[in-house]
Amino acid sequence: MPPLPPSFVERISIQLGEEADAFFRSYEAPRSYGLRLNRLKLPPGHPSIRSLEERFGLTPVPWCGDGYFYEESQRPGRHVYHTAGLYYIQEPSAMIAAELLDPQPGDAVLDLAAAPGGKTTQIAAKLGGEGLLVANEIHPGRAKILAENVERLGIPNAVVTQSTPQELSKRFPETFDRVLLDAPCSGEGMFRKDPEAVREWSPEAVEACALRQREILPHAAAMLREGGTLVYSTCTFNTRENEETVACFLDRCPEFRLLREERMWPQLGQGEGHYAALLRKEGGPSAVERSGRHASIGPDRTASSRKDRTKSPEIAALQAYETFAEEWLPGFQLPVLGRPLLFGDALYWLPVMPGRFEGPETLRGLKVPRPGLHLGDLRAGGRFEPDHALAMAVPASAARNVADCAADSPEAAAYLRGETLPAPIGVKGWGIAAVDGFPLGWVKASDGQYKNRRPKGLRLV
Ligand code: SAM
Repeated sequence: MPPLPPSFVERISIQLGEEADAFFRSYEAPRSYGLRLNRLKLPPGHPSIRSLEERFGLTPVPWCGDGYFYEESQRPGRHVYHTAGLYYIQEPSAMIAAELLDPQPGDAVLDLAAAPGGKTTQIAAKLGGEGLLVANEIHPGRAKILAENVERLGIPNAVVTQSTPQELSKRFPETFDRVLLDAPCSGEGMFRKDPEAVREWSPEAVEACALRQREILPHAAAMLREGGTLVYSTCTFNTRENEETVACFLDRCPEFRLLREERMWPQLGQGEGHYAALLRKEGGPSAVERSGRHASIGPDRTASSRKDRTKSPEIAALQAYETFAEEWLPGFQLPVLGRPLLFGDALYWLPVMPGRFEGPETLRGLKVPRPGLHLGDLRAGGRFEPDHALAMAVPASAARNVADCAADSPEAAAYLRGETLPAPIGVKGWGIAAVDGFPLGWVKASDGQYKNRRPKGLRLV
C-alpha cells in the first residue's frame, strides 16, 4: 500500500482520538474477503449451501444473513459456481447498506448508483423475483458490467438504466418504496483493497465528493414515495461525506427523518469499512405497512393479461416466445407483473408496477441497457432464439433437455470454453447446460451432440 497522505492521518487522528492507533494498525492486517449467496438460486436450506461452505471454508458475516467471509487463497470468484451466479463477491462491510434498506418482495426499489452491482444483486435477492428493481449507473462502461452481473445472477425483474440522477428524478417522481444511494465517494475504506484509492485521495477530492453527494441526494429523495425509506451509504470514513452530507440533506428536506446510522470500522470488525444512514420520508404509510397491499395485486391487473393483448408486434413476439417455452422450457413461468417489450428484434419482459411503472413510455428517451429480462430475439421467418439471460434466470429443472456437469468435471470446463458436449442419441432441440443443476447457458442438440450456445464474448479462452 502506498504511504497514507499526511492530511488523512491527521484528520483520522483527530476524528478517532485514542482509537486512531488501532485504526492505523488495521492497515497492517490482510484485507477481508466476502461473498454473498444468491438466494434466487440458493434459497435457505438448499443442500448446495453446505457444500459451498465446506468447499470455500466460509464463515458467516454477522450483519448479513447471506454473507460469508473467505480466505484469499480460496478464490471463489474463479470457480464455475461464480459463473453460474450462485454468489456475488462483495466486500463484507458493504453488505450493511442493503440490510438496512430491507426490501420486501413486491416493493419498487431504485438503486441509483448501482455498478458493478453488489447492492443491486443483494436487493434483487431480497425481492425474490417479485416487484420492480431499477438499477441505474451513470457511466456507460460500468452500466454494461452492472447489466452482466444482473444477468449472471438470473435476476428476472430488474431494469438497468444509464442516466443522470437529474434525468431519472424528472421521470420517476415519488415512484419507489425504497431507494438506495450508494454514493460516489473518496473511498477511504478502499485503501487496503485498492492502492489507487490512496493515490487519488486528497482533501480537495473529499470536498468535491461531498458537493456531488449533496447534489445527488435530493434527486434520490424526490423519487421516493411518502412513507418510503432511503439508504444513503459510502465506503469512506470522513464525516464531511457522511454525517454532514446527511445533516445538510435533512436541512433541505425536512420531510425526512433519520432512523438509524451505521458505521463499520476496520479496527472494530472484519471488513474494510462503510457508512450507511437509513432515512424515512414522512407523511404516508411506511413501506412496511404498505407491503400488505402487494398481495392484492392479482395477475388480472398486469399489462400483459391476455385480454389486454392485441396482435401488436410485441404480442406476436411474445407468442413466438411462448411457443418456444412450451416446447423447451415447460416448467418456467414469467414473473406475473410484467409485459413484453420489443427493442428491434430483441424481446424483453419488462417488470411493471401498476399505476407507477407500466409501459414502454415509462422508459422512453432514457438510455436503458437492459429493459427487463431479455427473453430472446426474433429471427427470419418468426423463429425465436432464446437469450443467455433467460437461461440464467430459469431453474435447469424447467428445461426439457439438460446437460448437467459436475463442478470439477472436464465437461463443465469444456462448456465454458465454448466446446460441444455429448448428447444422448435421439435428443434434439434446445436445452440448458448446467453445473450441478445450476444453468450456465444454452445448448442445442443434434446428431448426438449438444452444440454450445453460450455467448462467444463470455467463453473462456
Ligand atoms: N453500489 C455499487 C455496488 O454495490 O456495487 C457501488 C457504487 S459506487 C460506490 C458509486 C457509483 O456512482 C459508481 O459506479 C459511479 O460510476 C457512480 N457515479 C459517479 N458519479 C455519479 C453521479 N454524478 N451520479 C450518479 N452516480 C454517479
